[in-house]
Amino acid sequence: MSTNKKAKTGNGLKVMIIVMLAIIVGLIVIIAKVSSDNKVDKNSDQVVNNPTRVPDDNTGEPVVTAAPATGDETSTGAPQNTGGQPTEIAPTAVPATPTPTPAGELKLVDYTGHVEHLFTHSLIAFPELAYPTDCSDVDKVKNTYFIDCITVKEFKLILEALYKDGYMLVNLNYVFEIDDNGVPQLKKSFKFPEGKKPLVFSFDDTNYYSAKMGRGMIDKLILIDGKVGTYTKHKDGTVVQGFDEEYIPILDRFVEEHPDFSFNGAKGMICVTGFDGILGYRTQRVSSGDGRTEADRKREIEAVKPIIQALKDTGWYFASHSYKHGVMEKYSEANMEDCASKFYDEVIPLIGKTQIYVYPYGSWKRSSDGKTCPAVQRVLNNYGYKYFCSVGANWYAKNRSDLGSVILQDRANVDGTAFVWFQDIFSKVEGTDTPRFPSINFREFYDDARNIDYDDAVAAYKEWKGK
Ligand SMILES: [Zn+2]
Repeated sequence: MSTNKKAKTGNGLKVMIIVMLAIIVGLIVIIAKVSSDNKVDKNSDQVVNNPTRVPDDNTGEPVVTAAPATGDETSTGAPQNTGGQPTEIAPTAVPATPTPTPAGELKLVDYTGHVEHLFTHSLIAFPELAYPTDCSDVDKVKNTYFIDCITVKEFKLILEALYKDGYMLVNLNYVFEIDDNGVPQLKKSFKFPEGKKPLVFSFDDTNYYSAKMGRGMIDKLILIDGKVGTYTKHKDGTVVQGFDEEYIPILDRFVEEHPDFSFNGAKGMICVTGFDGILGYRTQRVSSGDGRTEADRKREIEAVKPIIQALKDTGWYFASHSYKHGVMEKYSEANMEDCASKFYDEVIPLIGKTQIYVYPYGSWKRSSDGKTCPAVQRVLNNYGYKYFCSVGANWYAKNRSDLGSVILQDRANVDGTAFVWFQDIFSKVEGTDTPRFPSINFREFYDDARNIDYDDAVAAYKEWKGK
């Protein structure tokens, strides 16, 4: 489009003006870059470009839990839509993000569309330890890591694809708000860079459970020269430290290289349980027989604090993934209260308050009559959680009066199930042929380090699930 509202000036003068403008714009860009590079605004609520200030990502109060821990969410295969119809989405409280989006380069406009929400788990950094070789194809695919996780290579390709498709990370706390009655509502409209699509990316079970040590994931997060990196000690004593083994440092670097992939510096939502500590540190209460002392626990707590701070300073934010990672539908009210209080006592003091609760396994309790909030849900609501996340391939987010007027959202899983089963459905806008993530090509991104050929994996998955 060409707009022709020009002054009638002589050609020479025009050229001069253009040159001068170019110089001024160049200087502004340089100054903005320098100042943003120098900016370390810890915990600030400030959002550059953004009128709305929000508290802390964590707002609510306590949290929750569940039973023993086993695996992770699961992707049952087919999209498990949580139930409702789409609703307007919107943000809310905004947390703090340090890295400013390059101001001035992206024009903010009112965004009124959906906010996509993807999730995965900790990455498989050492595939040779994660995927079995000496078993049937079906057993290979049934392997927890095959289903729940993706590899470093696959994650990087997915980031590139999301960026290519115009997505830009946004903090989930930014897309909803609490109305005058204390009820959480998706924002009907919020400021967002023109031409970009908001995306929330969450990562479940960032705990590095003891039971998973030596099976392909890192052991823990650490600080290396002030930056969040990873530490892993292999069985033969070899130690691997670096920035290329887990989603956090990989995404940090990706955003450094592509600042317009992050709105107001937002990175991802880190979802943690509490029964086995967090981020690879055994911060949980000492129980008889676990071989730990109070001093051990204190040491771990002190060790993890600067890492949490560094994460928050660089745009990461936290959500509760329950205390014990149990199936909510099987919980009694008392059990839920117990778990919620443990998370509140042990984890919240470390990560800060959060209003976001991510159901383990995507499992949540339905209202028996479509109106009355289930008792176990009420327990969570009483702890201040307002935004609940489940699992489902199709987009869904809505305030649910039957759950006590909280928001329920489905998140699409980017995991092994998506790779072998969602190829066609994952990427369509519901009821249309419009692609949601046109550049994601699971077959192409599939990592051969999974130790089973792609087509064989698809066939084995179908056999396993009886599809
Ligand atoms: Zn989980």
